[in-house]
Amino acid sequence: MNKVVLIFTGGTIAMKVDQSSGGAIPTLTSDDLINTLSGLGDFNNLIAHEYSSMPSPFITPNNMRELADIVEDYLSKDDIKGVTVVHGTDVLEETAFYLNSTVKSNKPIVLTGSMKNASELGYDGLTNLVSSVKVCLSDESIGRGVLVVMNDTINSSYEVTKTHTLSLDTFKSIEFGPLGIIDQDEVIYYRNVSHFKKFSLDNKINNQTHLVKIYAGISNDYLEHLINTGAKGIVLEALGRGNVPPNLITSIDKAVKAGIHIVLVSRCFAGRVLDTYAYPGGGKDLTNHGCILGGSLNGQKARILLMLAISNNLNHNEIKKLFKI
Ligand code: ASP
Repeated sequence: MNKVVLIFTGGTIAMKVDQSSGGAIPTLTSDDLINTLSGLGDFNNLIAHEYSSMPSPFITPNNMRELADIVEDYLSKDDIKGVTVVHGTDVLEETAFYLNSTVKSNKPIVLTGSMKNASELGYDGLTNLVSSVKVCLSDESIGRGVLVVMNDTINSSYEVTKTHTLSLDTFKSIEFGPLGIIDQDEVIYYRNVSHFKKFSLDNKINNQTHLVKIYAGISNDYLEHLINTGAKGIVLEALGRGNVPPNLITSIDKAVKAGIHIVLVSRCFAGRVLDTYAYPGGGKDLTNHGCILGGSLNGQKARILLMLAISNNLNHNEIKKLFKI
């Protein structure tokens, strides 16, 4: 039981600069990448699965659903030790969180990519692939949920986010730091994620779940549009501790009464939302109107979890429990 599957979806890691268009485009196949790895050492234990060669802005929840099935299928085989999904970095955290919420296997699952394309000096793709394989092969990685491995660090899909448009050190677990590191041949974990939850939700999607970022002076137009076009769930990326301008209350009330689940998270990079403020639009007022507190998840991950919760037909109280962190 020592094989690692690399599922290639695309991203900068498989791109090179195209002279005619003057920009990076998908170029390298899974075979190209695996062959380059083989030249670097003893990597006979790798299985390549070419899922796609998409930049990650092309990835949809439907792709995530398909990937979850593929990953689960591989991990059910005795000789497979772990799976690495090779992915564009832009929405990598969403696919990682989707897999964390749906795949039931305890075996290591890693997502990785690269920030520099294969035409650039300092291409980080091969290092990240090798590190990911090492993490998959480590017994220490079992039962830690889906992991994101980039730039010699190991992060929980629950906590990690892309923080920088360019830096190789872009993936950060902002509040508590990485779970561990890859140091040459050693995979070292420094901490567990004690609030980590493996949701084991059924792998199905209903795409009527939306994310709205709140800002000073926002009008009701977005919420009214979502209510009128059949939304089933809305994540509000709210201000600070979980507050919105008071003029939104009428639409929020209307949405909740129409059976739309509303989850509150914060647009701050770190920290939980809480029903601290009782003024109109404050967290307490919002929970009184039926909004659900989304803990410390960021907007894009809360949206994935709410989408899965709604697809699994969870009711208001079950969704509340799911988000309680
Ligand atoms: N835009 C690219 C993508 O997400 C960025 C990357 O892979 O790093 O596919």
